[in-house]
Amino acid sequence: MNKFTGKGVYGAIAIGKILKFQRRELSVKRKHIEDADSEKSRLATAKELAVHQLQEIYEKALKEVGEANAQIFEIHMMMIEDEDYNESIKNIIETQMVNTEYAVAVTSDNFSAMFGSMEDSYMKARAADIRDISNRIISNLSAGERENVIGDEKVIICADDLAPSETVLLDKEKVLAFVTAFGSSNSHTAILARNMNIPAIIGVGSDFLDTVKDGDYAVVDGFTGEIFVNPDAETTKRLQKKQQEDEEKKRLLQNLKGKENVTLDGTKINIYANIGGVDNIGAVLLNDAGGIGLFRSEFLYLENSDYPSEEQQFAAYKKVLESMAGKKVIIRTLDIGADKQVDYFNLAKEENPAMGYRAIRICLTRPEIFKTQLRALYRASAYGNLGIMFPMITSVPELEAILKICDEVKDELKSDGMEYAENIELGIMIETPAAAIISDRLAPMVDFFSVGTNDLTQYTLACDRQNSIIERFCDTHHEAILRLIELSAQNAHANGAWIGICGELAADTSLTETFLRMGIDELSVSPSFVLRVRDTVRNINLSE
Ligand code: PEP
Ligand code: MG
Repeated sequence: MNKFTGKGVYGAIAIGKILKFQRRELSVKRKHIEDADSEKSRLATAKELAVHQLQEIYEKALKEVGEANAQIFEIHMMMIEDEDYNESIKNIIETQMVNTEYAVAVTSDNFSAMFGSMEDSYMKARAADIRDISNRIISNLSAGERENVIGDEKVIICADDLAPSETVLLDKEKVLAFVTAFGSSNSHTAILARNMNIPAIIGVGSDFLDTVKDGDYAVVDGFTGEIFVNPDAETTKRLQKKQQEDEEKKRLLQNLKGKENVTLDGTKINIYANIGGVDNIGAVLLNDAGGIGLFRSEFLYLENSDYPSEEQQFAAYKKVLESMAGKKVIIRTLDIGADKQVDYFNLAKEENPAMGYRAIRICLTRPEIFKTQLRALYRASAYGNLGIMFPMITSVPELEAILKICDEVKDELKSDGMEYAENIELGIMIETPAAAIISDRLAPMVDFFSVGTNDLTQYTLACDRQNSIIERFCDTHHEAILRLIELSAQNAHANGAWIGICGELAADTSLTETFLRMGIDELSVSPSFVLRVRDTVRNINLSE
């Protein structure tokens, strides 16, 4: 038996066979571009990153396999800077006005064919190196994709890390658990695992993948963050018992369906659910959520290979609104960038993507994308009780610009003779310290606030939510965060707006009483946490 320990991000037990997640060969599409200079700067950034990666590999190889074997990585670093290779890529970009990935792929084919046809065996072998460095650059440009390789049997997916786009592409019905060598508990992959009710452990360490193999039998304890590979009979028995007890507890929570979210002294709160797509509606209804407090609409974009059309988006939003039959549905506008990368947006690699070109910043820079989404949202509003909220707000002018675009969209729909609801609530996410601090200025402009504690934590504590190394410095209960939430609540209420929390902290039942005392009106959590939070609320007495 081998035991590995990481951090459990969804408490449940899974027992089954391991499947190691495989990377897929990169597929490169030819795309027409308008700005050759920006493509060339994408190339420079991807190359810089590649050299940095190779330097790290070189140093590790030097220690582990010696100078002679490590040399190849030095050669790769030199090849990346080769003048002919770079000239070829730039010429292809400029003359054909195509994307960098395509220019690199064509150059790679040409150069590797040239080396492959040489007599000299040393030069011949360089063909593989050309392909290798080119794949590295392409992968840096496009964040890399992996293949969904699951067969008929349910499996425990083990990976180095999983990007949100990779996680969403997995067939959820066949995943028993996720275990990743790296990753952090506030990452979107961890959030997705919670949303999908899938036991998950992250950060079990780099040895893990070298030790386990496909088909190994394992038990995952998402409560303690332990995974037992080829466990002995006693461990299996103990965890099977724990699994039964957990399932029994979850069954008992079912008795709370249909009951109010009310404290012992009569204070009420809304408990809504967070979703990533239409597929999650079943879980929302099954867990008796009072509404949807956060629909992460970007998953529509992540699942698509091109910009989803207005009609496609309209159909998805309408379906959610109709399924919720008049209950509140808050749809957040596109929040891509940072860890949520979508190939066809062609976003450049950034030094600090979390603080970079993401979410509302993309929407305000590319209003055609924003308007398409808003048109779909407004049109869908005729079919239910819609609220729209905007992510990553930091300033009043930003919000003014958004509201102006909303008005333009409404005017356009009116002149197109399209129906939409007049009473749509508009809100913003409070997920930057700036928004919380100026919440007195923002509150009069909107109907509601929704606190995104995942990002608010990373920006307040200067802790990258993707970085597992600094997880211990990332205290989600930090006084600064609680004070910012309280300040936002006071300013919301003083201006007639309501306030909810939709970050992961909303499901932290050790804080439910604190939130109630602050006057938080709504908590939006993964569907499977709704009844647990209801149970907590019903046992709180605020008059004590
Ligand atoms: C948050 O930041 O808390 C949030 C809910 O948004 P996301 O996790 O999608 O960034
Ligand atoms: Mg966020």
